[in-house]
Amino acid sequence: MEITFLGTGSGSTFGSKRNKSSIMISTDQTKIILDMGNGSNSKIEDLGFPDIDAVFFTHLHIDHFNGIFDYLVQRKIRKIKDIKIFSPKGFKKIFDNYRELGNDITAEIIESDLPKAKIGNLEVYSVEACHKIYAVSYIIKDEKHKIIYSGDTREPCEGIIKESKDADLIIHEGTCIEGCEIYGHTTVKQLHEFFANKNLVITHIPAQIEDKIASASKNFIIAYDGLKINV
Ligand SMILES: [Zn+2]
Ligand SMILES: [Zn+2]
Repeated sequence: MEITFLGTGSGSTFGSKRNKSSIMISTDQTKIILDMGNGSNSKIEDLGFPDIDAVFFTHLHIDHFNGIFDYLVQRKIRKIKDIKIFSPKGFKKIFDNYRELGNDITAEIIESDLPKAKIGNLEVYSVEACHKIYAVSYIIKDEKHKIIYSGDTREPCEGIIKESKDADLIIHEGTCIEGCEIYGHTTVKQLHEFFANKNLVITHIPAQIEDKIASASKNFIIAYDGLKINV
């Protein structure tokens, strides 16, 4: 699997240095996107508008889904078939409101408390995350590897800790050095506490404190927009 980071900023990030949350996962057979915050949709165009089979949302905070609307407009302009969008409950209501106001966007929306699907050779399923609003984390497997993407969560969060144990790669939010637990986020200190010695990439980084996060990251990788990792 190849993981391309399309957006690595947190909801509070300033400026255009980091797009809002989004990750593309590719195999030779299929491509999916997890979350699509603002700016990440432009990154898809920069990459030559690759054919995407499905999009999965972790939760309905604006920084995780708001880029989808521009992306759907682009698909419409290019006459590309409807995409499948998997989401916790609530996205269809937002989507239908935009359509009713006259926006010509279409998609196949599949809502569920714990979204899951087999897309090409990728098996995708979810566990409940521990955030301020209902949220899930995604586990993605191909024939050989397993990765987990936390989305937004505080730690310790039982389902994530359990699924991380045998994951080849953990993509985890790290929204501050300390003090963001009350907002349903994870601190870099906690990442070291709960995922020591794991192959972990920190994302969902406020651009304005990224130097501090980088210096506290020790052996963890710091994501940036455009980063590609193979597992
Ligand atoms: Zn967020
Ligand atoms: Zn959130």
